[in-house]
Amino acid sequence: MTALKDVKGIGVKSLSLLQKININTVEDLVTHYPFRYDILERNNLSEMEDGDKIVIDGKVESIPMLMRFKAGLNKMNFRLVTPSGVVGVSIFNRAFLKSQLTVGTGVTVIGKYDKLKNVITASDIKMGLLTNKIKIEPVYHCTTGITNKNMSTYINMALLMYGKEIYDYIPEKYISKYNFLNKKTSLNIVHNPSTPEKLKEVQIRLKYEELFEFMFKINYLKLQNKKERTGLSRNIDKKVLDKFIKKLPFSLTNDQLKAVDDLVKDLSSPYRMNRLLQGDVGSGKTIVSFLGMLANHYSGYQSALMAPTEILANQHYQNLKELLKEEEVSIALLTGSTSKKDKQVIYKGLKEGTISMVIGTHALIQDEVEYNNLGLVITDEQHRFGVHQRANLQNKGIKPDVLFMSATPIPRTYALTIYGDMDVSIIKERPKGRQKIDTYVKKNSEIKDVLQLMYDELKQKHQVYVIAPLIEDSENSDLTTVCKLRDQMKLAFGEHYRIDIVHGKMASQNKDNIMEQFKNNEVQILISTTVVEVGVDVPNATTIVIFDADRFGLSTLHQLRGRVGRGTSKSQCILISDSDAERLKIMEKEDDGFVISEEDFKLRGHGDLFGTKQSGDMSFKIADIKSDYKILLQAKKDSEEYLLDKNTDEEELKKKLITSITQG
Ligand code: ADP
Ligand code: MG
Repeated sequence: MTALKDVKGIGVKSLSLLQKININTVEDLVTHYPFRYDILERNNLSEMEDGDKIVIDGKVESIPMLMRFKAGLNKMNFRLVTPSGVVGVSIFNRAFLKSQLTVGTGVTVIGKYDKLKNVITASDIKMGLLTNKIKIEPVYHCTTGITNKNMSTYINMALLMYGKEIYDYIPEKYISKYNFLNKKTSLNIVHNPSTPEKLKEVQIRLKYEELFEFMFKINYLKLQNKKERTGLSRNIDKKVLDKFIKKLPFSLTNDQLKAVDDLVKDLSSPYRMNRLLQGDVGSGKTIVSFLGMLANHYSGYQSALMAPTEILANQHYQNLKELLKEEEVSIALLTGSTSKKDKQVIYKGLKEGTISMVIGTHALIQDEVEYNNLGLVITDEQHRFGVHQRANLQNKGIKPDVLFMSATPIPRTYALTIYGDMDVSIIKERPKGRQKIDTYVKKNSEIKDVLQLMYDELKQKHQVYVIAPLIEDSENSDLTTVCKLRDQMKLAFGEHYRIDIVHGKMASQNKDNIMEQFKNNEVQILISTTVVEVGVDVPNATTIVIFDADRFGLSTLHQLRGRVGRGTSKSQCILISDSDAERLKIMEKEDDGFVISEEDFKLRGHGDLFGTKQSGDMSFKIADIKSDYKILLQAKKDSEEYLLDKNTDEEELKKKLITSITQG
């Protein structure tokens, strides 16, 4: 595929700007879809208020007057006759248009209307009258240094030069079945729509393609899983495991016991385990997975548990070591910040089989990591990982059993599609002694009450999380930041309590240290971004205060709230926001993650549900699994049929679809 830098008009600077927003190839560029379309209807002068955005067409009535300023800047003025009267137009830095703007020329002017002076300050002048009543204007996600107009120019140039090379992932059969336009034409239209009908038509086609590719991957992985047997005839002695369970400091809930049973059955069966363990935050999934690892260990195989963050990996590691301190088992922690020397030792131990359990982050699936006899792979917070990352564990011969854990309650219909015939264990019941977390929505003006509440909790020797949407102050936002809160909290509580911060930009060693101190109650107030959103477990923390709560999706708020209420003391969650109260009030009433995620679905689409920062399984460029659910079902059906179809001569396409699984 042609390189981005070869597209005419893209220089070194714009290249690096594009890379900043993750556009690295020509294909990325032409599939950088508008996130919105502005419908420009022609306006009538008399209906305009001062300062309104205006779109109007007319004929040039006076020869444009050009003024040049320093630094190469210029401005042009002319009069325009429109069906609703004469109006002045001025536009900056378009001297090059002068020769085209001869008297009598038809143009469409887009800009801002100054009613008093009867002048439009134009942002754009398009030659020729609008042929249609409306004009549809694509709006792109851009970045400083690249305007919407630049983006549109780059995309159209790329399409012009390389449009034919853009790969079409829809097999011939379905292109003709649905009468789809070809890829190049479709992309052209989506970036330059002439009518809403045409736009809709190609959007459906492009969405179908994206979902077809996605469902093909899922179906392919499923098929592979079904074909494979571990070939392990494992005898798991349930009695030994039961004995261990009896010694736990708490008794497992019935749902937990049932889930452990499911795991043991899967481990003993010659088929490969492909199971999803779903349960709301705080439902106690971790201990279930640990017991799975222990059973796997008893039967002589290695286990690996992969977590999405280092903080979480570290926590799991500490807990597992504590849990198994009387067992004869060697456990390792492998993350990005493990030293080179330690890594070599761990690689060796895993390859030779002297290490039986390993917990880590993505570091676990690097190519260098080889296992002696990996029998069980677990991923925590599954939705944070991409589909392709599942396939990537090196082993010697055997195919490990696989368990996914997720606290993201995906509404059932969607789960069925995405996870398909994966087996599911659900933990609904909460551990005993848990109380409902009281949730309050507060305004910024009520901050005093909030501080008082924090103070009361601190006096009872409890700890507090404080969450902000941003790390540091930035010019173009007045959202609350972690750094600002640190200063304020120090003023309010610094004399008697220790306050510290964690956020995603800190070195992980640092983060881990502070988390450790918070865990040991050496720090009482922890201020953070959403890095504590997943999994962190500090039972003595009873209060979480979330600033600018309207910035977060309900599912994220629910995950954040799940950081408290993990012990036996009454816990509370304070959401601070001056806007969006109605949505936030749902949190006051509701504590069931499934209900909350359904509400979130209704209100915001899937965006928040699957995590916006890390792209997990569900990040689509143009499709939306909620509003395009019908297309998804069709793509699912077709891709299954296509996968099993032996009479296709499109081997190249199949290969391409399959390799895109390992590349992500
Ligand atoms: P999640 O499902 O969100 O991952 P965790 O596994 O982190 O939840 O469990 C939350 C907390 O509940 C942990 O402190 C854990 O030790 C505790 N826990 C788990 N199961 C039980 C139980 N049956 N009774 C009491 N506490 C439990
Ligand atoms: Mg968890």
